Amino acid sequence: MNGTIKRRRLGRTDLMVTELSFGAMNLRLLKSYDKARQIVNHVLDRGVNLIDTARAYKGEIAPGVTLESEQVVGEVIRSRPCRPEPLVLVTKGHAYTVPALEQDLAESLKTLGVSGKGTLKIGSQEIRLIYLVHGISQERWETVKASGVLNRLQELKRDGTISHIGFSSHYPFAAQIKEAIDSDVFDVAELPYNVFNRSLGEDGPLDLLSYAHQRDIGLINMKAFNGNGMVPIYQVMREHIPIDYPAMLRFCLSNPSIATVDAGVRVPAEFDTDLEAALTERLTAAEREALKKEADKISGLMKNVCRECLHCLEKFSCPHGIDFPRILSLHSRYKFMSRQGKDTSGLAFQYRKIAPNGGDCVACGACLPWCEYRLNIPELLKEAHQILS
Ligand code: SF4
Ligand code: SF4
Repeated sequence: MNGTIKRRRLGRTDLMVTELSFGAMNLRLLKSYDKARQIVNHVLDRGVNLIDTARAYKGEIAPGVTLESEQVVGEVIRSRPCRPEPLVLVTKGHAYTVPALEQDLAESLKTLGVSGKGTLKIGSQEIRLIYLVHGISQERWETVKASGVLNRLQELKRDGTISHIGFSSHYPFAAQIKEAIDSDVFDVAELPYNVFNRSLGEDGPLDLLSYAHQRDIGLINMKAFNGNGMVPIYQVMREHIPIDYPAMLRFCLSNPSIATVDAGVRVPAEFDTDLEAALTERLTAAEREALKKEADKISGLMKNVCRECLHCLEKFSCPHGIDFPRILSLHSRYKFMSRQGKDTSGLAFQYRKIAPNGGDCVACGACLPWCEYRLNIPELLKEAHQILS
């Protein structure tokens, strides 16, 4: 594949980052450390200079074996020949009080293998470390503001423990995102945006992407493909809409407010498809409008659908032992497939093997604050149980 990934300025950090970057969340979905190392090496070989990971991006890949994204990323960076320029590394923590921040950041630095102050290194590789407050929601933002975390982050930046400060958030929290931008503390924001959901961009009451960009905040675009769970669901819908993955990516890249799109690929071939799209011409305004029109025909179907992002399980598990993301994913596939007249018996078969199941949910609501999409999980479980049991 010919061509070099173009770079854009990441806001006030002044870093020039590749407009296609690597989201390392999905490493936890791979079956081995070797495969995880392979994909990180691959994207770096292809010229990516920003990797986006998090303390919480970890998962069990075999009984008793946990894969930590930060560990893999640190190992790969350490193992590679010295780069002529620093690599940009983003990590984030679910830490909303100062003691939690100290602990979380210390764990991230240790797991990644970061050393130094001011000039930060992993092994002999120089890096720029952007530390994000992970997943700002209404409650978390209130805690952050009251707890002194913002002052502490600025001290950590001043003393060189981290290079820059940022935050990530999700669609339901536009008001908190605006407040975070207005706080003038953050250099970077990581936000979801795609052709199917432009509510934080041009379709919102305020175009927050443009608002952040005007304030010189570097924007990392996540969920360019509308979230993990949309991959299997999209395969069902694909025959009905003329929007493929390259078109989704080009749509995001053609938004001038965005500095980089972090593609969460799992295998090298997926990344190469994204890279090919990134190397083609940007969409014209007319092409963008045509894509939006097509996307709007189905975007309503994607509301109230579990994205299988697993963010809810990063710090929470149901006290009644219910694997609700698994049940909700079967439920959403059922809804899409039955609409298309497809055979759904396999989904019911899978559901019947799950115990405890949706019928065991006591609707305590403890899971609700942990869903990034604010799904009504007890209601959806009830519906899933009625349909699939
Ligand atoms: S509402 Fe249901 S799924 Fe959620 S925590 Fe309570 S029992 Fe578990
Ligand atoms: S329940 Fe919500 S947070 Fe959990 S996997 Fe589904 S969409 Fe993601």
